[in-house]
Amino acid sequence: MLEVSQLTRCYGQFKAVDDVSFSIDKGEIIGLLGHNGAGKTTIMKMLSGFLEPDHGSINVDGLDLIADPKSVQRLLGYLPENLPVYPELTVIDYLDYAADLKGISLNEKAAEVQRAITATDLTSKLTSAVATLSRGFKQRVGVAQAILGQPKFLILDEPTNGLDPEQTEHMRQLIRELAQQATVILSTHIMQEVDALCSRVLILRTGQLAIDARLDDLQRTNHLLVDSSMSAENLKSLTKLEGIGNIDYLGFESSTNIHRYRVTLDSSAGNGIGAKLARSIVEQGYELMRLQPEQSDLETLFREVNQQSDQATEVSHAA
Ligand code: ATP
Repeated sequence: MLEVSQLTRCYGQFKAVDDVSFSIDKGEIIGLLGHNGAGKTTIMKMLSGFLEPDHGSINVDGLDLIADPKSVQRLLGYLPENLPVYPELTVIDYLDYAADLKGISLNEKAAEVQRAITATDLTSKLTSAVATLSRGFKQRVGVAQAILGQPKFLILDEPTNGLDPEQTEHMRQLIRELAQQATVILSTHIMQEVDALCSRVLILRTGQLAIDARLDDLQRTNHLLVDSSMSAENLKSLTKLEGIGNIDYLGFESSTNIHRYRVTLDSSAGNGIGAKLARSIVEQGYELMRLQPEQSDLETLFREVNQQSDQATEVSHAA
């Protein structure tokens, strides 16, 4: 369990992170999102013990990071935005050095380094100097050092940055596997990545936490998408059902005889509204091919969150 409370950090007079609190349970994959400069990296640096907060606390499995950084850092794996590495070191020497820094014992070290190499598919580059690696391979070295010692908490700043599509998929699969034993917090600008990996998102705006929500809840809309053989002129019967607001006709596909609709639910719609709608269509003798909640796409949602925050800021300035 990671508990972050009232985290605040300034650079000079500038408040980069402002009173941020959240907690994360074991096994979750959390996406930390926000525009450039929103404060993601500053939070990640504080979570990893690289940067001290001006105010607030970070607690990992009951241990206070600020009071006992060494014990907490043993539980953490951190992939920073820019990997601090001696460029002349070979990959294998660097990982060996990183294992020492993490305090991995001598009898475990060889197996641990090998596990990280296999997981990140680095075998072909072991004797190459880190400076000579492509961006994608450097990223893999960064991930390999982060997962050494099988950390309970993994903090990944843009983990697929610079990877080709195949490696991106490989990395996502690796993150899913790691998340079975660890809690993962990752920062990314790639919304498909959030969709593919995260169960919950934290959206930062100018240093403050604007949204902390499960992805399902965020993406849920008050619309159902319906494909049916019921034609537009017969829709009236459905609008009489309690909980159904408007029904928009989206079109007809003649090859399959399917009419498509978007049904807007109103505030009286309960959990059983989908079943009620399906029953009504079928009982009237029509076929029902699809009935599913419409989901917001994450990019639109992200834009809306930032616009809402902009409006809130304008209102509070005007007040
Ligand atoms: P990006 O998506 O661009 O990586 P971010 O959300 O990670 O951005 P941070 O790097 O945490 O944002 O930066 C938050 C704010 O703090 C920015 O306005 C940045 O310019 C500022 N900042 C970060 N590091 C420093 C520093 N060392 N000195 C002064 N200001 C800094």
